[in-house]
Amino acid sequence: GDRASTAVDVVVVGGGQAGLAAGYYLRRAGHDFVILDAEAAPGGSWPHYWESLRLFSPAEHSSLPGIPMPVWRRGFPPAGHVVDYLTAYEQRYRLPIHRPVRVTAVSRTGDGRYLVESDRGTWRAGAVVNATGTWRCPFWPRYRGMSRFAGTQVHTVGYRTPEAFAGQRVAVVGGGNSAAQILAEVFTVADTLGATPHPPRLMPDDVDGRVLFDVASARAQALASGRADTDGVAGLGDIVMVPPVKAARDRGVLVPQPMFSSIAADGLVYPDRHEQVDAIIWCTGFRPVLNHLRPLALRRPDRSRPGRAAASGRIPLHHNHVPAEPGLLFLGYGDWTGPASATLIGVGRTARDAVAALGPHLAATAEART
Ligand code: FAD
Repeated sequence: GDRASTAVDVVVVGGGQAGLAAGYYLRRAGHDFVILDAEAAPGGSWPHYWESLRLFSPAEHSSLPGIPMPVWRRGFPPAGHVVDYLTAYEQRYRLPIHRPVRVTAVSRTGDGRYLVESDRGTWRAGAVVNATGTWRCPFWPRYRGMSRFAGTQVHTVGYRTPEAFAGQRVAVVGGGNSAAQILAEVFTVADTLGATPHPPRLMPDDVDGRVLFDVASARAQALASGRADTDGVAGLGDIVMVPPVKAARDRGVLVPQPMFSSIAADGLVYPDRHEQVDAIIWCTGFRPVLNHLRPLALRRPDRSRPGRAAASGRIPLHHNHVPAEPGLLFLGYGDWTGPASATLIGVGRTARDAVAALGPHLAATAEART
């Protein structure tokens, strides 16, 4: 189009922890870049988590590269402490963040660069770092009768406090950390019912974020040196036994409960029974936020390896980029983009390596244009 656009080396889409870690290394490498973030205020998804949420590691093990997270003296820090840290972090490194700016489309320009369109202007860049997280793409499974349910249905993203459910009969669906933590607190004020497709696998009591990071690091090293892949953190279980979850387990709340087969107006339908419920909380996970990349048609079938992308449901990556697009990076989405990359302490490692690999790509793009 004819609309004026700003030229930069790199556009980072997303200003959560992954976008900030990318910014830290882009700054050190001397690249000209902007970070575009859809939020009105700093912190990525952290300001949106439920009120009681605490980190699963001490502050000393939750830092991005550079300035460490200040120590929190009363147990593991709450989400607000992370928001304060991320706010200070972006100021400390004078990261060029524009907000609120929602990127709507990324496409190819004729000269091998990218056009980044948003609700507040257009940028041209030699490379794009996607750090959009998953919070804005909650996954809702489909069950027969779901739309006829007369009670309340919320996803993890809509859950804030247990009080909203006081005195009700509440189903909490899902077998991960969000389900365990939300069930553990809703249980204290309501009559709860869990539902998981597989029995929840509880981690040992002494496994916290520190241990998870060490195990993920060992896996990253094994992968990097070509040794056999380990199970990584998945081998330890699914649920981190933070104090409220331990308490719930000790009271017998975290017992395996099967999935229902469909939903009626007043409750859940199982093959052998019916359970009346007033509310359903869907703790059923998230997907990477990638809809702005639709113009790039990244999911087109890979002719060299038929069916590959379709089978995994994820775009296959090579060192954090799509093989055919070395200037399009993905950071912070979890195992897909590197072991522990969805954590504060873990994202720095992938950000450092990915930004280092961008240098030669940007030099080649610049040369091609002169
Ligand atoms: P986000 O924090 O989601 O940031 C992405 C940013 O991109 C947002 O600001 C969003 O507005 C923006 N964005 C999205 N789309 C666009 C667009 N099109 N244009 C512009 N901007 C866009 N990790 C830990 O290390 N320790 C913990 O204890 C821990 N506990 C957790 C508990 C819960 C309940 C959850 C859900 C996660 C937890 N995590 C924890 C993981 C961690 O919070 C997330 O993985 C992390 O926030 C991901 O960071 P991110 O920067 O990738 O994404």
